[in-house]
Amino acid sequence: MTADAVVVGTGPNGLAAAVTLARAGLTVELYEARDTIGGGLRTEPLFDDDVVHDICSAVHPMAAASRFFREFDLGARGVELLHPEISYAHPLDGGDAGLAYRDLDATCEHLGPDGRRWRRLMAPLLNHSEGIVDLILSGGRGLPRDLPAPLLLPTRALAHGTPLAAGRFAGERAKSLLAGVAAHSIGRMPTLASAGVALLLGHLAHGTGWPLPRGGSARIADALAADITAHGGTFHTGRPIGDLRELGDVKAVFLDTSPKGFTAIAGDRLPARYRRRLDAFRYGPGAAKADFLVSEPIPWANPEVGKAGTVHLAGTQAEMFRQETLTARGVATSEPFVLLVDPAATDPGRARPGKRPVWAYAHVPNGDDTDPLEMVRARIEQYAPGFTDTIVAQRGIPAAAYEAYNPNYVGGDIGGGAMTLKQSLLRPTPRLDPYRTPLPGVYLCSASTPPGPSVHGMSGYLAALSALRREFGIRERPELGAGRAAGPEDSAQALSMWPEPTSPRD
Ligand SMILES: Cc1cc2nc3c(=O)[nH]c(=O)nc-3n(C[C@H](O)[C@H](O)[C@H](O)COP(=O)(O)OP(=O)(O)OC[C@H]3O[C@@H](n4cnc5c(N)ncnc54)[C@H](O)[C@@H]3O)c2cc1C
Repeated sequence: MTADAVVVGTGPNGLAAAVTLARAGLTVELYEARDTIGGGLRTEPLFDDDVVHDICSAVHPMAAASRFFREFDLGARGVELLHPEISYAHPLDGGDAGLAYRDLDATCEHLGPDGRRWRRLMAPLLNHSEGIVDLILSGGRGLPRDLPAPLLLPTRALAHGTPLAAGRFAGERAKSLLAGVAAHSIGRMPTLASAGVALLLGHLAHGTGWPLPRGGSARIADALAADITAHGGTFHTGRPIGDLRELGDVKAVFLDTSPKGFTAIAGDRLPARYRRRLDAFRYGPGAAKADFLVSEPIPWANPEVGKAGTVHLAGTQAEMFRQETLTARGVATSEPFVLLVDPAATDPGRARPGKRPVWAYAHVPNGDDTDPLEMVRARIEQYAPGFTDTIVAQRGIPAAAYEAYNPNYVGGDIGGGAMTLKQSLLRPTPRLDPYRTPLPGVYLCSASTPPGPSVHGMSGYLAALSALRREFGIRERPELGAGRAAGPEDSAQALSMWPEPTSPRD
């Protein structure tokens, strides 16, 4: 039997598209190039059989907050999201550190005179958190149901996304904390796009949190795959799709690929103008990954840093603005921005006696082929003297090598395209429906479509909703929750072209 829909690529967006389609009662087949599913959600042993490492994503503020995952309900699927006491930390010279506790009051107290300013920035966002998340993750296309939510963003974005940012806080703790979150945009700083990322992720650190799934990121992929299989979906792994014609005659095709991957498999079937636009799509700086197996917890100069789920190793705000801007221009720096996660600090089950995983990556120029191990090790050692002596095993992946692992990471760009203001709203090309392509029934659903990178599932979800309406005449949004049968009759909600942001179960 021919499937109603085929999904190429099983990253979180491909899986989210498949869940949505299967829950609408369609038959879905998924093709994955690698031998395992998951895309950026893979957790595997690297150095021995005892300890598993997250190969790509490790921390999941978006999976905790996004509308797709709120409806899917990871908790009800047995995926436990573990919250560190400190969402993220930013060690500074001399043993000082900026600490973003999940508790806003504790954070403000820690920030001293800047505490009042931090509260003024974050508290209103927290009061409208769901509205803000839904607005931003709808790629700016949903009609806001929470009217004050969008009004909170522009002044804050101007204050923190322009040179004014340098003067918004007095002390380095608060300055570096916010700049460290902004740097998740992986690009020039400060910009409105980087400020948008800082406001979104920054307030979530004190709200739905920056959790780690117990056992590793693959637990999220496993839960999505189980739901797909339970609703009749079929997986084909070790099946790279090199040409759309391999998929036969199928009504809807969803490509969890980069624009570069799309043009490669669509060949000369794409209209020249659209193809030129895809070719002009800009990729961002690369990520170079370093994995370590260490014998003991990281010996941070400031022991509080050891309570954090995520650690930013990047120096002061001014240094970050400089480094990130140089990296975006293609200039390698000797002290790049490094993100680090010691998963066992939040999920002790990830450690074995004398062995624990450490996950880190550095921001480097796109296509950089330098082994990052030495650079990342030195960065950690700077704030945790003695770290080197705890290393049992290590491996580095240059940014250039990431593309061979996953073709979506073009030149090592793990964001699926540069997060400039234009490309954060209009990706991969300006179109009313960014998921539809000029090829009949062919939809793009990767992080190269709105709302962009991270494990939120929203690109897949929104692409699937668009296709359900256009290709299958299904105007009702399928119920995604655990323990409910599939079927449009489950939902009384009408589908608009872009689903309006609403509460998960209203
Ligand atoms: C080192 C690293 C750290 C990260 N950390 C975080 C984090 O902590 N939190 C977070 O939220 N996000 C993080 N991310 C980003 C996150 O992983 C991505 O934004 C997300 O996985 C994108 O999902 P996707 O479904 O669009 O694509 P992907 O996850 O990239 O999946 C695409 C899949 O499609 C397959 N594929 C591609 N082309 C073909 C083809 N032609 N035929 C068949 N299969 C194909 C690929 O093999 C892959 O499995 C990180 C990424 C990396 C690399």
